Amino acid sequence: MNIHVLGTAAFEGIPALFCGCETCKQAIESGGRNIRTRTSIMIDGELKIDFPPDTYLHMLRDGLDLDKVKDLLFTHSHSDHLYAEDLVARLNGYAQSGDEPIHVYGHDNVLAKCMQVLALEGGPKNKFEFHRVQPFERCQMQTASILPLPAGHAALETCLVYVIEKNGKTIFHGHDSGWFPDSTWEKLKEQKLDFVILECTTGRSPNRYGHMNVDAVLETRQWMEENGVLNPGAQMIVTHFSHNAHLLHEDLVAIFEPHGIQVAYDGMIVEL
Ligand SMILES: [Zn+2]
Ligand SMILES: [Zn+2]
Ligand SMILES: [Zn+2]
Repeated sequence: MNIHVLGTAAFEGIPALFCGCETCKQAIESGGRNIRTRTSIMIDGELKIDFPPDTYLHMLRDGLDLDKVKDLLFTHSHSDHLYAEDLVARLNGYAQSGDEPIHVYGHDNVLAKCMQVLALEGGPKNKFEFHRVQPFERCQMQTASILPLPAGHAALETCLVYVIEKNGKTIFHGHDSGWFPDSTWEKLKEQKLDFVILECTTGRSPNRYGHMNVDAVLETRQWMEENGVLNPGAQMIVTHFSHNAHLLHEDLVAIFEPHGIQVAYDGMIVEL
């Protein structure tokens, strides 16, 4: 299985829009892995998680064939994860795209935002097919089976993390989320994971609710080891970084690598 990390920043990107902070200045100077766009991952070129405003950049930078995506899975409706306006580009009159619909999976707010934007263009027609997912209800997509679980992220929206089973491997996509709700920890106890994606938006700040900080990531890793949730050789990566945490790539590597956690960077490819 091929896991392609397309973007690794929180909402503002690194360097951030409109920002002149030291971290953003240093990121511009050092370039490379310190340049981070908004988060998304692609699995085997056919299952995409989230559709940020940087999707067009990801296509150009990494040579993606977006028309090969079969399933588009959404975590929540925040604009760094769902830029519905660019879905319009697949409709007739904009792209010479395939006839097979891309199947879109998400909770209410996600679907409402997509429908609203596409309705202005006459609806999704045969280009997208929508599926509502619910926490704790396993769902068979075209490319994988998913178990949606509640995230600890936004007070007024059902945001979801996912256990994803594909080709005999199990991935946990664990963001956007702070410390997980109890019901999510309970379900995670039943899993055997090969690949874990966590977020560390808030860095060294004491805040671990809404987004995870360094301590929450390390405690999650320890909890997963203690509860036998990780298969032998399981890999863990951390992503969704904010410039406001003031940690450069090398700082993050120094924090996480001693704990066996890889710091994701834009364009990173992991073979499972
Ligand atoms: Zn986000
Ligand atoms: Zn900044
Ligand atoms: Zn969010």
